Amino acid sequence: MKLDKMKVFEQDYKYFMPVFSRYPLVLSHGQGPYVFDTDGKKYLDFLAGIAVNVLGHAHPALVKAVCEQAGKLIHCSNLYYTEPQVLLIEKIAKLSNLDKVFIANSGAEANEGAMKLARKYGKMQGGDKVEIVTAEHSFHGRTLATLTATGQPKYQEGYEPLPGGFRYVPFNDKKALTDAVSARTCAVMIEPVQGEGGIHVPIDGYLQYAREICDKYGALLILDEIQSGMGRTGTFLACQGYGVKADIVTLAKGLAGGVPIGAFMATEKVAAAFAPGDHGSTFGGNPLACAAALAVLEVLEKENLLMNAVTMGEYLMNQLAGLKKKYPVLIREVRGKGLMVGAELSKPGREVVDRCLKQGVIINCTAGNVLRFVPPLNIERNHVDEVIAVLDDVLAQWQ
Ligand code: PLP
Repeated sequence: MKLDKMKVFEQDYKYFMPVFSRYPLVLSHGQGPYVFDTDGKKYLDFLAGIAVNVLGHAHPALVKAVCEQAGKLIHCSNLYYTEPQVLLIEKIAKLSNLDKVFIANSGAEANEGAMKLARKYGKMQGGDKVEIVTAEHSFHGRTLATLTATGQPKYQEGYEPLPGGFRYVPFNDKKALTDAVSARTCAVMIEPVQGEGGIHVPIDGYLQYAREICDKYGALLILDEIQSGMGRTGTFLACQGYGVKADIVTLAKGLAGGVPIGAFMATEKVAAAFAPGDHGSTFGGNPLACAAALAVLEVLEKENLLMNAVTMGEYLMNQLAGLKKKYPVLIREVRGKGLMVGAELSKPGREVVDRCLKQGVIINCTAGNVLRFVPPLNIERNHVDEVIAVLDDVLAQWQ
């Protein structure tokens, strides 16, 4: 099947719900950190499906695991056990240092589950312990509850009435947390490093403080590691790099390297608030997604990709800092952790993204003016050099 490119755009316009403003690119396949469009043009993919393709494209171990599992059992109901699921939950529990795991299909679903568990647990403590405190500029998903948790009104407008029981605080503001958390709080939910909101790294002691204030009021700390987890910041979970342990953690995106999946994990004590029938999913934890995730976790370990995220992240940030020196008016700040990196511009960044794309480099712009780099975790120095060379050229023309 080969569709003419214009035909693809037409079909999309005619049949797809108009929720995305897509780039005029029809992708056909990928190899390592590169993707190819249907005209055969090659792009260096430093967006990786927005922090999803942690092993790049068509990694042989992931392809093999998916093909083998597809030939055996793609799906069965959660009424039965499967080996890939039990192997995966054991692995995730050990890596995250939490006790119980639920496998879902996406980030939003993982966060929904996490919030349901926190509410259930909170109610069991008695009183009206139902409030969830989240951060401004956060992003937690697109379902009604997760867009309500998301501290950005633009994702909420038009969907009112929103579910109740949410409060918002500025990220990195301890005083605001102190004022917002009370005996009514069942959970504080934050991204250790904010992604969609513009790559905001926690200030020293912020996550520790969130932990302390939760403990003070008997509230749970939920860390949304959907973008920051899976080794992206150099530790399996970003919170591990900050020495903070959450009661509930959510994962998705890179967990199965591109096969849809999500997960939430909790301590034994918190997970005990759930009883049979309290939560569930038809597809969540199916053997295909679990086999893919197992393969990804094995490669992360075997290829030492957490370490690579640290070294390549430092290298990328240094190179970007070099560009900041060269274009001090255009680049305001470079920030990030590991391979979760942002370059804040002094004006909207869409044009930079468009120009990079024309020159064969895929990045994106979030929060209006923050160039976001969340490449595969197995990139090498020459890939960073390639991106920096293109960006240098684009910024030179743009200034
Ligand atoms: N949480 C965070 C931190 C995210 O970055 C995202 C997606 O960008 C989500 C939740 C939602 O995940 P999904 O799109 O898989 O529902």
